Amino acid sequence: MSLELRCGDVVTGCAGVVSGATQDEVLVAAAAHAADVHGLTAIDDATKRQLIAAIHPVRADDPAVQAR
Ligand SMILES: [Zn+2]
Repeated sequence: MSLELRCGDVVTGCAGVVSGATQDEVLVAAAAHAADVHGLTAIDDATKRQLIAAIHPVRADDPAVQAR
């Protein structure tokens, strides 16, 4: 089962979604997204905890997932 993180759950208004097979993979992808889209070059511990809390399994019935 893969995991995903919806950036909008942490950053209001962002439509970005990152995914990975493990929590670490999702965090790496989230860090890359944060740098590219939000100009965040470092993720502090508080933000990292928010990101981890927002990671959840990909839902099979999610249209955004089926589109990939
Ligand atoms: Zn974002």
